[in-house]
Amino acid sequence: MKKTVPTLLIHGGAWAMPDEDVAAHERGIVRALEAGHAVLQAGGTAVEAVEAAVVVMEDDEAFDAGRGSFLTNDGRVQLDALLMNGADLRTGGVACVEHLRNPIKAARLVLEKSPHVYFVGVGAERFALQNGMALCDNMDLVIAREQRRLYTAQKAELAGHKDRTFSGEIPLPDPMLSHDTVGAVALDCHGNLAAGTSTGGTLNKAPGRVGDSSLIGCGCYADNRSAAVSLTGWGEPIMKLVLGKWAVDRVAAGATPQQSATDAITYLFERLGGHGGVILMDPQGEIGLAHNTPRMAWGMAKGDARSWGVTRNEA
Ligand code: ASP
Repeated sequence: MKKTVPTLLIHGGAWAMPDEDVAAHERGIVRALEAGHAVLQAGGTAVEAVEAAVVVMEDDEAFDAGRGSFLTNDGRVQLDALLMNGADLRTGGVACVEHLRNPIKAARLVLEKSPHVYFVGVGAERFALQNGMALCDNMDLVIAREQRRLYTAQKAELAGHKDRTFSGEIPLPDPMLSHDTVGAVALDCHGNLAAGTSTGGTLNKAPGRVGDSSLIGCGCYADNRSAAVSLTGWGEPIMKLVLGKWAVDRVAAGATPQQSATDAITYLFERLGGHGGVILMDPQGEIGLAHNTPRMAWGMAKGDARSWGVTRNEA
């Protein structure tokens, strides 16, 4: 029997990342890879490895997840996250949560401890608290960089500039058009897959808005019978296409993960003018990665091998 090589593939967003942000993203990716892969090397499960990698990126202000996330139009951090176990399809999701530094941990608690799959808002915060998570002041999640970014976005809005996040154009280099969501897919030594995605959503979003990231089958999905997937990008088109499930179904139908990743991003753009990036892994540890944004931050650890980078799409 072929031995499973534990494998971890992660992303830290797909957007027109400016040169000056690349090093911080690469550092964050490497730290997250090490944390997640250490779990796999120690015989941990894919779910545990995905959680460990995502926690590191939520704690890193370079990414749009946890502290340092984009702000709602009234200046708050509201977070979405999903974690899914490909072995038995157990899933935990939280959306529009405040006061939580690590929403992926809350998602894990939902996955492990609740008969339900999904909690939102105050109910999600109460569930996390009742299951041992500490709540923080929401202002602890807000950083000055994001307050400045929101101010600039709202000033541009008042001046009549169109928000190109929702324009259907592939984002040009513009720090206002960031998709810095984080995600991970993993295969453990037992041959099980898992996927997780965590985000602060889109800049200047309306309070209460939920994006694709935490919606099952949209920004995240895992099934041992097909593949594990995590997406980033403009959430509304990804949701309308249920793109995560679309991508894993193609793997189940015989496509390679790379072909499916490429096709998913092509479909996103051709059908709805959407932009973003995707990572995929099948039960053999074969991977796929694609994006139609200028750049995407990613990393992979397999056995002793590591690779990572901020991939550039040549225009
Ligand atoms: N997909 C996320 C959302 O729409 C944003 C992102 O990936 O950066 O909430």
